[in-house]
Amino acid sequence: MDRNWRSKTGIEPKDIAARLKALYSSNRGSGTKPPKGNQPPRHRLLTIEAQEEDENNNSTIVPCICDRASKVYECGICHQYFRGRLTEKCVKHPFEVYLMDFRECPYCQASIVAIKESDLTWEQIRKIEDATLPGGNDDL
Ligand SMILES: [Zn+2]
Ligand SMILES: [Zn+2]
Repeated sequence: MDRNWRSKTGIEPKDIAARLKALYSSNRGSGTKPPKGNQPPRHRLLTIEAQEEDENNNSTIVPCICDRASKVYECGICHQYFRGRLTEKCVKHPFEVYLMDFRECPYCQASIVAIKESDLTWEQIRKIEDATLPGGNDDL
């Protein structure tokens, strides 16, 4: 069918299409679709790239806390000191679970909300506790 039509008219269908397109776009150009406002594809690509860059930068802004150091804590309820890490959700690995991390006070099971980071170092606390605990386990 195409071939018949082409041979009759002697015009390539492509040409017609191109002409129609030209006509169409020149008619419509200033009308419904202003070409200026119609540039989302490129813009989108750019924003995606920017986001990816941001994500890379985030590695410095939002660090992985999985390897954070142990700290000294004081329970606000029973005032016991202990060393370790309070359980905390790593932003980068929200599903990692560290069984050694404290979810509560190891002495009175108070919620970690009641537990505060201590200003004292563990050495200071050991000294205090060694001093307050009479005798006991000197051999250790
Ligand atoms: Zn992590
Ligand atoms: Zn406690």
